[in-house]
Amino acid sequence: MDKIIDVKKILNQEIEKLKQRIENIKEKGIKPRFAVIIANKLESTKIYVRNKKKVATDMGIIMDEYILEENVDSKDVISLIKRLNEDDNIHGILLQLPLFNHLNENTLLEVISKDKDIDCFNPYNLGKVFIGDAKIYPCTPKGIMTILDSLGEDFTSKKAVVVGRSNIVGKPIASMLLKKNMTVTICHSKTKNLKEETQKADVLICACGIPNYITKEYIKDGAIVIDVGINRKDSKIVGDVDTEDCLEKVKYITKVPGGVGLMTVCSVMDNLCSLIEEKIK
Ligand code: NDP
Repeated sequence: MDKIIDVKKILNQEIEKLKQRIENIKEKGIKPRFAVIIANKLESTKIYVRNKKKVATDMGIIMDEYILEENVDSKDVISLIKRLNEDDNIHGILLQLPLFNHLNENTLLEVISKDKDIDCFNPYNLGKVFIGDAKIYPCTPKGIMTILDSLGEDFTSKKAVVVGRSNIVGKPIASMLLKKNMTVTICHSKTKNLKEETQKADVLICACGIPNYITKEYIKDGAIVIDVGINRKDSKIVGDVDTEDCLEKVKYITKVPGGVGLMTVCSVMDNLCSLIEEKIK
């Protein structure tokens, strides 16, 4: 196997599995459908949303878009989410982040029904992840786990180091690695001597958002390195890891672009299927 993990291949396998699950759902007379609420004007959001729509449509899932005005009142966003919570034809709700500055992300995420929370950002669903009893997972960490699982390695008792402690990547992936019986260290901007920590990692997850920050000096020989970063540098997209520099030392590594990012949208559809399956069980 190549040192650079073929995420495209893993993705295609996941898509095939999902298509089968969607077929099974449709056979029960349910048309999988979710809503995306957009409350920002960012170009990057337009690209992410377009990408989600394409993946959804290809899989036979309906995606509705709610594009909100810049002066939208928080109360109106809450009413919209509540209306979607009540709508039996809508199986998933996704609040595309970031939001306009005047809107409070945590307040609004809590309004999304736990049974329609396809991003898995609602505190209830995140809590389930942290206690190791989840049906759905935050999308990027779920993508990372699918990549790791595809490697056929036994991770029990191995050491994982996660660089980054965000609620959407660092903290949940650390919990998920713990569930794999790994010994997990979480590092962040206040960690002293990061290199000393990362050099111990059998599995190194890099989610700090600093272009090409992790070089070979940070890596143990034979480590598996997952680069979550999506950063713009000199008009190119680069990860948090200097892939070229690290290649000689790693066992496996994901590249950017063409790595973890590919899996994230697939995880949204996976969560949608899981929530529908849970409902019709
Ligand atoms: P955040 O900005 O929310 O978190 C970054 C984390 O990195 C923080 O915990 C921060 O520490 C830590 N950090 C910053 N500088 C350092 C440093 N010098 N040493 C160690 N830790 C540091 O980012 P996200 O978690 O949202 O995203 C991380 C990266 O992943 C970004 O590049 C983002 O674009 C990408 N991303 C990719 C996705 C995909 O689909 N592939 C999805 C989501 C994100 P502290 O808490 O102390 O500030």
